[in-house]
Amino acid sequence: MPRTSSYVFDVRFWDVDHGSAAYLRVGSKDVVLDCGANTQFSPLRWLNDSYYGLNTIDYLIISHPHQDHIADLDVMKELELLSSDTLLQRPKDATELVEENLDEAYEKGMEDYIEDAEFYLNRLDEFDTTPDLFPSNPEWALDNPYTTEARTDGGIPDQGATIHNFSADDIVGNDNYEKLNNLSRLTVFNSYGFTMVSAGDILQGGINQIKEDEEAMAAISDADVLVAPHHGRDSSFDSEFVRHINPDLVIFSDKTAEHTVSGKYGNLANGAAVENEQSGETRERFVVSTNSDGRIRIQANNHSDWTASVYGRDYASEKAASKRYKNSD
Ligand SMILES: [Zn+2]
Repeated sequence: MPRTSSYVFDVRFWDVDHGSAAYLRVGSKDVVLDCGANTQFSPLRWLNDSYYGLNTIDYLIISHPHQDHIADLDVMKELELLSSDTLLQRPKDATELVEENLDEAYEKGMEDYIEDAEFYLNRLDEFDTTPDLFPSNPEWALDNPYTTEARTDGGIPDQGATIHNFSADDIVGNDNYEKLNNLSRLTVFNSYGFTMVSAGDILQGGINQIKEDEEAMAAISDADVLVAPHHGRDSSFDSEFVRHINPDLVIFSDKTAEHTVSGKYGNLANGAAVENEQSGETRERFVVSTNSDGRIRIQANNHSDWTASVYGRDYASEKAASKRYKNSD
């Protein structure tokens, strides 16, 4: 597809080894979806650095508070990236489960987790005045102010950008780990008809609940891009669910391909042209992964055209040294 005009939706999935971290520019807003990080690379520090200059997050979505999705919170705290206007979406029902994990972490002296989880529970709580809000403000939804055909969510069908969150109604799972995964937010991004679904680490039990939720199922059907649940692992692969979503392209965010089922997802995806930003080559892909492709970028414009591209593993250090990408990448 042609790289035309304005991209109103621009998301980068970072390679953070095992974990998830994405940054989205939606209209003029800065959105962070999960806060994974690895020992070499903090996405938030990269974004905050002078050549990009992110100072405040407008909307923070934490699918669920496992360490591979919150490891960058210590940096968020250090850099003071939240403001009193920051919208926050996270599973409030997870609080007791996190407290249990924190008790265990105190006993074992797991300092990294303690800092992130304490911030998650204490500091983030200050921003929970509207915990399940999605941006219905016209400034957010990029609505045409001259039309009266408003949806109840504040958006106009296939115009503007909206972000919806769904989740299982009940807490399902055999233990703390499964319960926390199944509480994951299912986040649906829509921008002028382009749809991306991100499924956190939801497992089969949670997927079964989502399948009973008509509103959620309507929102995710025939999406363009699916961020596979639980990093693309087999235990969260549900062919009926994926067929319903019917994605062109599936994204995995994981350290290795060892546990992921790219074949199963690939068989159900329709395919999309993906450009390698380093070589300039474009080829049809069904699944892209942070472990083999590095940083993944999806951009959609206001005609629902969208493009996908990947950049190699040394993304952070190379881009940091490159003037060309100042303020633009
Ligand atoms: Zn995870």
